[in-house]
Amino acid sequence: MGQGSSEFDLIARYFSLGVPSVWDSQGIGDDCAIVKIGDTSVAITVDTVALGTHFLLDADPYTVGRKALAVNLSDLAAAGATPRAFFLAISLPDADETWLKRFSLGLKEEASRYGCALLGGDTTRTTSVGTNAAPTTMTITAMGEGKVLRTREGARVGDDIWVSGTLGDAYAALKMRWGHWSEKVTDYLASRMDTPTPRVDLGLALTGLASASADVSDGFLADLGHILKRSGVGAKLNADAFARSGDLQRLSQAKQYEAILTGGDDYELVWTAPKSAREQIRALATADCPLSLVGEVVSEGFLVEDAHGQAVHFDRKGFDHFG
Ligand code: ADP
Ligand code: MG
Repeated sequence: MGQGSSEFDLIARYFSLGVPSVWDSQGIGDDCAIVKIGDTSVAITVDTVALGTHFLLDADPYTVGRKALAVNLSDLAAAGATPRAFFLAISLPDADETWLKRFSLGLKEEASRYGCALLGGDTTRTTSVGTNAAPTTMTITAMGEGKVLRTREGARVGDDIWVSGTLGDAYAALKMRWGHWSEKVTDYLASRMDTPTPRVDLGLALTGLASASADVSDGFLADLGHILKRSGVGAKLNADAFARSGDLQRLSQAKQYEAILTGGDDYELVWTAPKSAREQIRALATADCPLSLVGEVVSEGFLVEDAHGQAVHFDRKGFDHFG
């Protein structure tokens, strides 16, 4: 891959086709496309996951089924949409029915939890390259609806920056499973990596409160960065203001910052909101889902400090498939 060919460069270069839509829509660049139909809006999102890229090759198919749908529901949550339907295109090297049975169970549980019906899809065999079978891939298109849906655009100077949950847990689990970090993965951290909770209810509750939002899939700084770029603003963050799980707190400070700020795979929500919404937003926190006020929208720049006002440094910004 040549220099400057990030995932986002590729999209800008080759997938900005310039063909206008006759539908009333905001165009590429948000977690969901939002199409206004009559007095309702439909949010549409598509995500592909592959064994070996998004999942360890030996991942439990039950969790693969749950997470394949959960990552799409998370995009709907970012838009503040109520999930309604999804389509599943799956490519398999062979029809391993033991694998498919558990995959289907996970998919079904996630779909029924959020009332999201499977309305169609496609099933194909992956072609092998030489003697290597191509990996199983799943592409899910999910759709939701709402009267007023949100995008990544709309953050205003002076807005608070909020995030849900305890970031970094899934990333810590992955680093431990890969053996990059020597600590042993705990059941809790593993569950945050394998079965993330799409914040659908929170996404709905933020309607009328949040000015812009995204879900945290590629890493907090990267996903907040999408909001800032699209809104034309900057941010000042306090890296010590993020709620952290007990298991994450047992790691070194440097690992905690890396996991929280750059990790990704959290499927939490990051959003901006006017200060006047603070108390209403605080009231939405639950025992399972703390909400952290982590910074402020400023006119430009990107500053991350600790609680003592010292700059926090980090090597990576987030996950990029071609970065
Ligand atoms: P998400 O992580 O929420 O799925 P991304 O940040 O990866 O979204 O993608 C940024 C934007 O680019 C989204 O609006 C997405 O729909 C769009 N996008 C990504 N890949 C393509 C593509 N191949 N063609 C057109 N649009 C794309
Ligand atoms: Mg997203």
